[in-house]
Amino acid sequence: MPQYVAAIDQGTTSTRCMIFDHSGRVVAVDQLEHQQIFPQAGWVEHDAAEIWGNTRQVCGGALARADLDSTSIAAVGITNQRETTVVWDRATGEPVYNAIVWQDTRTQAICDELGALGGGAERYRAKTGLPLATYFAGPKARWILDNVEGARERAERGELAFGTMDTWVLWNATGGNEGGLHITDPTNASRTLLMNIDTLQWDPELCAEIGVPMSMLPEIRSSSENYGPIRARGTFRDVPVSGILGDQQAATFGQACLEVGEAKNTYGTGNFVLLNTGTEKVESKNGLLTTVCYKIGDQPQVYALEGSIAVTGSLVQWLRDNLGMISSAPEIETLAAQVDDNGGAYVVPAFSGLFAPYWRADARGAIVGLTRYVNKNHIARAVLEATAFQTREVIDAMNADSGVPLTELKVDGGMVGNEILMQFQADILDVPVTRPVVAETTALGAAYAAGLAVGFWSSEQDIRDNWAKDKTWTPAMDANSRDTLMSQWKKAVTRTFDWA
Ligand code: ADP
Repeated sequence: MPQYVAAIDQGTTSTRCMIFDHSGRVVAVDQLEHQQIFPQAGWVEHDAAEIWGNTRQVCGGALARADLDSTSIAAVGITNQRETTVVWDRATGEPVYNAIVWQDTRTQAICDELGALGGGAERYRAKTGLPLATYFAGPKARWILDNVEGARERAERGELAFGTMDTWVLWNATGGNEGGLHITDPTNASRTLLMNIDTLQWDPELCAEIGVPMSMLPEIRSSSENYGPIRARGTFRDVPVSGILGDQQAATFGQACLEVGEAKNTYGTGNFVLLNTGTEKVESKNGLLTTVCYKIGDQPQVYALEGSIAVTGSLVQWLRDNLGMISSAPEIETLAAQVDDNGGAYVVPAFSGLFAPYWRADARGAIVGLTRYVNKNHIARAVLEATAFQTREVIDAMNADSGVPLTELKVDGGMVGNEILMQFQADILDVPVTRPVVAETTALGAAYAAGLAVGFWSSEQDIRDNWAKDKTWTPAMDANSRDTLMSQWKKAVTRTFDWA
């Protein structure tokens, strides 16, 4: 009997493979970063071939570190950076263009054109749950077809395939141009602007309007079922792939937010708060997205309200890579710890406009409140605080949409090792913030989806039973200070508008 389940986590900055045991503990990890390609301001690309190469390597690497072979692995789950779009040639397996990353804003003109048909940014909300924004995958595919010579004709002849990164990894893993499976799940498909959020089917009208031929789209299956075995050499050969969840939905699943009203916040490149709303789809009136949270086999889909924040951890990377103020991300805490507050400075990281709850494509980043007093320690603190302020604004929107105030926030992701940030988050939210023992909830969620499909875990109760708390941060800030900080932050945000 195989004792383990593996997850491939194809993230924005790196690709990881993690092997979990039945209690949900990490047995082995391997990870490789890939190149971030910035061809011009506002554009972000990845080399999809490099990512597939890295995927194979980390799968082999994780097995080697655990001193296991494929026969010990019951199933493989895939989770992925969402919306990032790749179009490839079905016959050769070669991408026709670099993958266009979720943060990329080059589709603004396409979005403006679609919005001008009537309804503006809200044009697609009823059918897809999404505002019309550069964030989503459909217009990215359209851009590739419009800008790569001959691509549209080849797509119309059925020669090209579209995929988000789950689909790209699965297709390659299950045989590539020799019979690879062309499949996605509703959590990923719900981020394209092409899927009807009620029926979970591609919508012919949306596809025609956005300009993506349906012949290039993958089949939408559930998030947890046996899709087929891995055929690629060296990487879990013959093991079934049986789970696909977009990274944020996977983290929600891995955090055991399985009941209506349970929410988590993942602190990675960006931040993503997801609130489980059950089988009922809640339409946001406050700038959040309605998205599919998961669909397990034949069971009805579960929905989530989502607050997506584009720039949080990547602001820390910016401090490291663009300003050289720190040499590693965790070093920001050493700087920030030298001071008790932000010294009046606020950093609003509207690098690619602002996502939830503002959805302002015209915003650009700003540092405000500068005086001769402000030093690099204050800036480091303001950078951390930016993540907490943005989260508070999203939680406020969620409370307004759901009518039920959040009482506790489960957190995970790369930034939750930062004590200053976590305490400030609890303070500014005025609710406790809790980190689980296994902070790798994204990979864990994908492993759960895969393991449930093959009977490795018998029910969602196993997921609840495996969840364990590591630490809770309790609010300790007085209401006055909190309100002052929030109103200063909101004022700072308005300074970024009407720039681009
Ligand atoms: P992703 O899955 O989006 O690639 P991760 O969950 O791996 O991201 O988190 C990485 C992000 O967290 C990076 O943007 C990095 O700058 C940030 N980060 C990592 N450690 C810390 C820390 N101790 N303090 C603040 N930010 C951190």
